[in-house]
Amino acid sequence: MKIDFVTIFPKMVEAPLAEGIVGRAIARGLLDVRVHDLRDSTTDRHRVVDDVPFGGGPGMVLKPEPLFRSVERIRAERGEPSAVILTSPDGRRLSHSIAERLSRLPHLVILCGRYEGVDERVRQSLATEDISIGDYVLSGGELPALVIVDAVARLVPGVVGDETSVARDTFARGLLDFPQYTRPAGFRGMDVPPVLLSGHHQEIERWRRREALARTLDRRPELLDEAALDAADRAILDELKRNS
Ligand code: SAH
Repeated sequence: MKIDFVTIFPKMVEAPLAEGIVGRAIARGLLDVRVHDLRDSTTDRHRVVDDVPFGGGPGMVLKPEPLFRSVERIRAERGEPSAVILTSPDGRRLSHSIAERLSRLPHLVILCGRYEGVDERVRQSLATEDISIGDYVLSGGELPALVIVDAVARLVPGVVGDETSVARDTFARGLLDFPQYTRPAGFRGMDVPPVLLSGHHQEIERWRRREALARTLDRRPELLDEAALDAADRAILDELKRNS
């Protein structure tokens, strides 16, 4: 999968990409990532990327020309992208299903905004979609772009060593994850649930499923409307609701 970032702060994007699961995926050639400095796509001597907003008001706005030129260069050097994503607090909210869709695309370009945002014509005719990572405002699109790429990369086959771990993650099955424990079995008076030490795989599975259902019912009940539930799950839920 090819991924191109466009940013005025390349170092802010490069450093996190060198570490962890994403770093390893890049080293192994599963992800082919380039980080482009928006200023390299300016044509003036001062490499200006921003200007004052028409109509007045505080702050600066990222100009359209450098962003269009940058994507045109990517197109010429790297081929036609499958999606050009604008990071924006008013975009569609990132979710597991959006990450899944993006993980099946061969080439993503991600545009990182700054200042008061990006000239609207970028959204109109350069970006193919806009994505928000949540209802809060950050000072730039670099962290959102990294969040998107991290969430997407985990879903690209081979990136996470053990595929079952991704398939079992929170949201993958439409439920929150069950609680995890590791050694020691007893810690400061808190004991690991005995079933996890029992070696009975079926019982462990049943306990985990029940915990995942209980946690989802307690914290995010709206997720249950979309989750893939079987008759046994529904029976557990009915019982949990009766006892609450
Ligand atoms: N004035 C804008 C905020 C601009 S923040 C507004 O009120 O909507 C500057 C840049 O940071 C944005 O262009 C975007 O690229 C990025 N950004 C900030 N918060 C974000 C979020 N929650 N999700 C995605 N991108 C975000």
